[in-house]
Amino acid sequence: MSNGTAILWVRNDFRLNDNLALLEAARFAKLIPIYIWDENDTNPWRPGRASQWWLHQSISIFQKRLQDLGSNLLILKGSPDVELSRVAKESQASVVFWNRSYNPSEAKKIASITKALKETSVAVETFQGNLLCSPVELLKKDGSPYLVYTPFWRNFLTKYTPQKIDKPSKLPAIPNEFKHSEHDVSALQLLPELSWHENFHKYWNPGEQEALKQTKSFLKKKIADYNSARDLPAINGTSKLSPYLHFGEIHPQRILWLVFEEFGDLENITDPNIVQFCKEILWREFSYHLLNHFPKTPTHPLRESFKNFPWKKNKQLFNAWKRGQTGYPIVDAGMRQLWQTGWMHNRVRMITASFLVKHLGIPWQEGAKWFWDTLVDADLASNTQGWQWTAGCGADAQPFFRIFNPMTQGEKFDPEGSYVSNWCPELANIPPKWIYQPWTAPNEVLDKARVRIGDNYPHPIVDHKEARYEAILNYESMKK
Ligand code: FAD
Repeated sequence: MSNGTAILWVRNDFRLNDNLALLEAARFAKLIPIYIWDENDTNPWRPGRASQWWLHQSISIFQKRLQDLGSNLLILKGSPDVELSRVAKESQASVVFWNRSYNPSEAKKIASITKALKETSVAVETFQGNLLCSPVELLKKDGSPYLVYTPFWRNFLTKYTPQKIDKPSKLPAIPNEFKHSEHDVSALQLLPELSWHENFHKYWNPGEQEALKQTKSFLKKKIADYNSARDLPAINGTSKLSPYLHFGEIHPQRILWLVFEEFGDLENITDPNIVQFCKEILWREFSYHLLNHFPKTPTHPLRESFKNFPWKKNKQLFNAWKRGQTGYPIVDAGMRQLWQTGWMHNRVRMITASFLVKHLGIPWQEGAKWFWDTLVDADLASNTQGWQWTAGCGADAQPFFRIFNPMTQGEKFDPEGSYVSNWCPELANIPPKWIYQPWTAPNEVLDKARVRIGDNYPHPIVDHKEARYEAILNYESMKK
């Protein structure tokens, strides 16, 4: 136990387990855990509206977790450099602990916070954040970053040993003078003004305990069928851990630890379902690797040639995409799932993103911004990588000229039409044969299903063949 007072700066690491900064801070006689919301933050990648909903829950649940261990969470509004220095001065804290963020858009802010604290003689100690390895740690033999996933994964396997860090059994008390300070999350006004988020409670249960429960249940009940189920959006066949990972409610090392406990050493696992799931966890790390080596990629294509792509700006088409009114059922179902639940199935993220970029010719950055605002798992590294992969301008990306056909994608991955029927109920009575191109269905089929194209379901906003042809022409013109 160290005498004196420490501050724990809580960011997207709302967990008690696998939290090195918390563990270190717990050795002090007094501890002040603080969350600071900077309402004047000009960072374009501050949490979007759906993420703010999750953040509100995360703060409040984590506060209760800290209270259960004898501590609490101060919830402050303001600029972190000013607030941390102020609390450090008032409490005479000697050190501020935090877990590192791997978001390059925060680097400047962190540097100025560290400087401000050091100027007031407060030490700063930081620890590994929400990744298995630092994004700049795994490099190719020549010291350059990986641009292809498989060798990145192989290198990871050679270095990886399973580990976990259990939560402290109790925490030091908050100094008396801070016991009655700001503790109310609602003061941050994180909940969106539009009541659209109220439905999220039906789909999500944020918090560390839920993340652990969900991981264990996924490993017991679903992972065995992961490879066949993960591409079928009508089936709840993936882990749905992405928002928990983003908010640090579970550390990826805990997920791999639970895999290890259940199935043994990763290197010796032969079941392709389990290997694939672990590979997906590592895609997240690969995304951070790319983001940190190429910090401009949230707005700039990694492949320079794409700077010359003749993108279009078309508000009407963009709005139809955002609202799930494109006339292509699999696209519309995905966009409506996103709006109603704050999440979209990975296969459908690829289809909807491809449709925006290739069929509508709208810049991928516009789509990425919409996802940023509406996903509860919006994550700068994974979102950037996902959009650049789809647009063909990123690392290890799908080539631009491979253009998803929204009809055949629907038929292949939702053969019964259940996903579409769920999110586009106006199409629920159309037989699977027609559900992915209802405008081609005979009148008697449409009448029976009570579908009136152009009335209760839109005409396709672009013609698939023409849009595909134009996309390829644009791609060829970019290369000249
Ligand atoms: P599972 O299949 O259960 O996978 C487990 C975990 O692995 C996920 O929680 C996630 O952390 C990681 N993972 C899986 N696939 C990917 C991937 N392709 N790239 C990076 N990590 C992956 N993921 C986000 O977390 N945030 C985003 O903002 C995001 N934006 C995306 C945008 C586009 C256009 C695309 C194509 C993909 C995006 N993804 C994003 C990746 C992926 O769609 C989600 O991680 C996944 O759907 C989350 O569901 P799950 O937790 O059930 O995944």
